[in-house]
Amino acid sequence: APILLWFRRDLRLHDNAALQAALQTGRPLIPIFIRDGLIENLGAAPSWRLGQGLDALSGRLGDVGGRLVLRSGPVMTVLKALIAETGATSVMWNRLHDPAARARDEVVKQSLKALGIEARSFSGQYLVDPWQIATGAGTPFRVFTPFWRALQQQEIPAPLSAPTRLPAPEVWPESEALEAWALGRAMQRGAAVLERHVRVGEAAALDRLSEFRHDGLAAYPDRRDIPGAPGTSRLSAALSLGEISPRQCWHAIMAEEAAGNSGASAFLRQLAWRDFAGHLLFHDGALPDRCWRPEWEDFPWNRSGDTPEVLAWKQGRTGVPFVDAAMREMQVTGTMHNRARMIAASYLTKHLLTDWRIGERWFAEHLVDFDAASNAMGWQWVAGCGPDASPYFRIFNPETQKQKFDPQGQYTTAWIAEMSPDPSPLALEVFEALPRSWNMSPEDAYPDPVVGLPEGRARALAAYESFRDRS
Ligand code: FAD
Repeated sequence: APILLWFRRDLRLHDNAALQAALQTGRPLIPIFIRDGLIENLGAAPSWRLGQGLDALSGRLGDVGGRLVLRSGPVMTVLKALIAETGATSVMWNRLHDPAARARDEVVKQSLKALGIEARSFSGQYLVDPWQIATGAGTPFRVFTPFWRALQQQEIPAPLSAPTRLPAPEVWPESEALEAWALGRAMQRGAAVLERHVRVGEAAALDRLSEFRHDGLAAYPDRRDIPGAPGTSRLSAALSLGEISPRQCWHAIMAEEAAGNSGASAFLRQLAWRDFAGHLLFHDGALPDRCWRPEWEDFPWNRSGDTPEVLAWKQGRTGVPFVDAAMREMQVTGTMHNRARMIAASYLTKHLLTDWRIGERWFAEHLVDFDAASNAMGWQWVAGCGPDASPYFRIFNPETQKQKFDPQGQYTTAWIAEMSPDPSPLALEVFEALPRSWNMSPEDAYPDPVVGLPEGRARALAAYESFRDRS
């Protein structure tokens, strides 16, 4: 009888433990993807990027004699129908660790077992499953550095190879059409721009890792903080959808470390932040919704996303070049450099005194590398209310940051057309991507700051002091 191989955020054939386990049985495999409520809840850009990833996976499966069967609906309804149609007696998948997926998967596992169907799940979203790492006292980690030390003590399984042929069932069940799903339909006109900037699929991710390993890694420690120079791996979207596994990255870069490449350890440490975020979310499912330090719920944030200041932030029209460049980079490429994420987030939560969740949700709509754990951790870290967070009173000055990390203005001029008599193609693409209703044009004058930097800083510090005195 066939096995249903349920793909989720693991859109790859390499290092896919569920796939390997299914293959070892010698039985026919039916690869499936289910568009359930969790998929419907994705923001516009992540949903669009998922559609691209599914298209690539479908092609990849076709190359090895498989097919991707797409179905919509609640997972158990879909699985029951497929079991009835195909006579499958097993369902296998790779585990996800966020609370919503875990709650769903637990019910699915129990329901399948109750039907007499074998249900097996495997590891692979992180370097190490989040529950395998704990402090000496057996509690979850709250601080990155000891987590990183503990992670280095773990054995990270070597990646599994990809099959060259999948055993097919006698009859394929019908599939819905990917185009009919119209994933990312909420993107409107931005999708045509994003398409030029993303690299999609397993093969592209493996190529990118190999390029980075050979051409980027050695300079990574020096260049990773410079948003105007492409010094990082740009693998985050592929990692988020599982087009490549963190273990593949780990072992490839470990081999460089063994060969004396001095950039390796800085990269591995950064990759471990992704696991740390997964660990935090695993142990506290409310991380994307509630301040990790509960007293911060009383902080006097502006809780409205509709103020002119917040709108200017979303539009990349705050009049603060580093912040505006960052917000525009996200509109065009669906990603934002890590340093720029920190600065844009700090400006929103501090200079504009706005609740971090407003920014977190905005990113969740616009990032093609959206990852619930890393996004929530990043926002809470910047806002000062998260685990291992930077203290609220440490306020990034976007001007000083610009002098330090973009001294020649490569980043800001690349993205802000209004600042240049001869705007770069990227800066002009911004206007293709933005909603028409924003009415922005490259001929506009670049705006004055919505809030003066010293003024915003003083306002944030005053809010912090009153909060601290009260709590
Ligand atoms: P590289 O520097 O090449 O790093 C390699 C990989 O390590 C990344 O692809 C990523 O998977 C992981 N990584 C690196 N830095 C971090 C970090 N600080 N936290 C977690 N993982 C990290 N990352 C996401 O993948 N999705 C998000 O939704 C997301 N939201 C963020 C929001 C804020 C406010 C902040 C401050 C950071 C956020 N990050 C997020 C983390 C980080 O900015 C991106 O992972 C990084 O910019 C991706 O670029 P890269 O692949 O070139 O990274």
